[in-house]
Parts: sequence; C-alpha cells; structure tokens
Amino acid sequence: METLFRACHPDLSAASWAIRFAASQDNVMLVLSGMSDLEQVRDNLSCMEHFTPFTQEEYSLVQKAADLINSSITIPCTGCAYCIHNCPETIPIPKYFTLYNADMRELSTKAWTAQTMLYSHFSEQSGKASDCIGCGQCEKMCPQHLPIREWLKKVAARFEGTL
Ligand code: SF4
Ligand code: SF4
Repeated sequence: METLFRACHPDLSAASWAIRFAASQDNVMLVLSGMSDLEQVRDNLSCMEHFTPFTQEEYSLVQKAADLINSSITIPCTGCAYCIHNCPETIPIPKYFTLYNADMRELSTKAWTAQTMLYSHFSEQSGKASDCIGCGQCEKMCPQHLPIREWLKKVAARFEGTL
C-alpha cells in the first residue's frame, strides 16, 4: 500500500498522508497525531509547517487505497465491540471476525494459517461462535448493521467445522 503513496510523493511518509488528509477537510481546525519518537515529531512538523491541502489527485489516490483495503476485508467489522455487551453467551464477536478476516486474507497466498489455533485458544476462555443462540441482541447494537448471526455461522463452520 505504501508504494502507492511513495510513487506519487517519494519523499513523503505514509503518516504524513494521514495527517494532511485530516487537515485538508473543511471545518477541521486541529489535528491530533500520536507520536512515539523524535523522528515522528519531525515528520509531522515537516508536513504541517508549510501545509498544502490535498489536491484532487491526492484524494483520488487515497480513495484507491481505501478501495484496495476494503476489497481485502471479508467482514466489514470495525472492532468497536458495542455488540458484545449484551451477548448472553459471552461470544467475543469482533475478535472472531478479525480472525476470520485474517484467515480469508492469508488463505489466498498460504496453504496453512494459524487462525484456527488462535480461535481454539480464545474459545476456551469465552463463548464459541457455535454457542450463538440467535437472540439478535448483538445486531441491535451494531453501527455497521452487520448480519452478525450469519457471519458467526461461517466462523463456526471455518474454525470448528461443526455447522
Ligand atoms: S445473537 Fe448470538 S452472538 Fe448475538 S447476542 Fe445473541 S447469542 Fe450473542
Ligand atoms: S458492533 Fe458490529 S462493527 Fe462493532 S464490533 Fe460488533 S460486529 Fe463489529
């Protein structure tokens, strides 16, 4: 992904694209950026000191990158975890969806993935995907309106081989 951005501006870091994107939005007065070393502080300062807003070409490139990322995600779960609070079966829904997405992504290039092993580990400590009783509490809370119960069936089929 970074090569896309480097091809356009070889001298700019990937992080600088993020900060400039946020700062280019109408009505944005302040952009907060997490930094963990001096190099990152310098990098942020360098692109904000003489700030130039995004061009149309740069917006298009970011859209292309977003499309590429989205096309590699099977379940569009954001990991917000709103869904897990009322689950009577204590199923760690976003954790399982993350494993499933990683599994689908890796299966396109590998014959074996570690996700089933990780799933076994997690499901020993909380509810399994196949424990879902279909009450629908989780779906009422999901801001992405995901058909969680249907996806959990696929998770169970993939990692438990039971459904
Ligand atoms: S539908 Fe399944 S996953 Fe959702 S809250 Fe009910 S038991 Fe939990
Ligand atoms: S509420 Fe929806 S988007 Fe948020 S973690 Fe649960 S399934 Fe994912």
